[in-house]
Amino acid sequence: MFEVRVICDPVDTDRITAALATVFTTGTHRRYPSRSGSRTRLYVTAELPTTVTPQTGQTDARRCDAAHPDDPTPCEGPHDAVEIRDRFMSRARDAITVGTLGCVHHGARMLASLDGGRVYPGPSGAPGDAAAIDAYQRAQALPPFAWRTTGR
Ligand SMILES: [Zn+2]
Repeated sequence: MFEVRVICDPVDTDRITAALATVFTTGTHRRYPSRSGSRTRLYVTAELPTTVTPQTGQTDARRCDAAHPDDPTPCEGPHDAVEIRDRFMSRARDAITVGTLGCVHHGARMLASLDGGRVYPGPSGAPGDAAAIDAYQRAQALPPFAWRTTGR
């Protein structure tokens, strides 16, 4: 949480407050006269939105790391159900590194969009968890960048 301070004409305070609400998740706001008395000091508490859906401009709840910024669809299940690696990231060679963690839905979409991508169970998966298999099977039926062709 942070605070935005704006010094403006008193007639603009409502429009500025509304404009800030389109960019940030805003809370309370306070208005005081400026030292000169001719302008208004506007204080607005705000938070950065985690993800902005481009099509609607609205903020979503937190999404997984595998969700493409242009993909408006919500996550399905745990945000670390699967791990996606590109063809250059071998699990044996890059044992220290971690691929991109994601939910099954966005993991499948990322996998379908990568050339030679691989999917592994994520840290939240229990042994024998089928999340990686589910993501793999979904990816087989998806075009690359599915949100561009289907619009969702
Ligand atoms: Zn997701």
